[in-house]
Amino acid sequence: MTETFTFSPDEVKPTRETVFENQGIPPGITVSGPVDSICEQALAMLARTAAPAGITGEISAAEFEQVYQGEGRNDPNTPVGGIFERADHLALFTVTIGERPAEEIARLFDENEFALASMLDAAASAAADNAAKLAERRYGDVLRGDGWGAPDGGVLRYSPGYCGWHVSGQRKLFDYLGPEEIGVTLTNRFLMQPLKSVSGIIIAAHRDVHKFAASFPFCRECETRECRERIRALFAE
Ligand code: SF4
Repeated sequence: MTETFTFSPDEVKPTRETVFENQGIPPGITVSGPVDSICEQALAMLARTAAPAGITGEISAAEFEQVYQGEGRNDPNTPVGGIFERADHLALFTVTIGERPAEEIARLFDENEFALASMLDAAASAAADNAAKLAERRYGDVLRGDGWGAPDGGVLRYSPGYCGWHVSGQRKLFDYLGPEEIGVTLTNRFLMQPLKSVSGIIIAAHRDVHKFAASFPFCRECETRECRERIRALFAE
């Protein structure tokens, strides 16, 4: 089943700490008054311009295998490749915060308002990520409402372009899901338009299924090691 939905700008509003972190300012660092005020301005602009929307579509493991193969450019071993066949439920997703934040960012850069432009860019990226988190939570809530998951079910999302799933995998994901319905399209270079959009697969499985060692060859290049925090959070729920 395919579903579309919207969120309010307030629901995807990032914390100041996340915006600063996206700007390369580590947590715990006190920022100056002017930087703080630019962040406030950026968050206010984001609240005026964001129009968050999403789409999810359930998919069987056999169908997802075809989507996941993409253009045949994935790494041979990946977290998703080792997890999806053991999932209880799978859903493709795309979320976006709409075109207007990106238009504002471009306008600010054109007008040499570099500090505000890059703060808005950081805030918009964080908001798109929050929309993806909400879509993940929403799908998990629907499954739990139907009796799935207790007591050890875990729901996590994974995206093309990360962790060995080649970005060209976007093509088949788009062909299957049809995010054009919420205004998201794909360029020839597999970039989503609007740019502040996130797509991927939401995997619902026993929590243990999501556990993996960060020892894939591509992990050597990884700066965030974000999977560690996500898996930790899953077991803290
Ligand atoms: S360490 Fe980085 S690249 Fe490796 S699985 Fe985790 S998030 Fe992906």
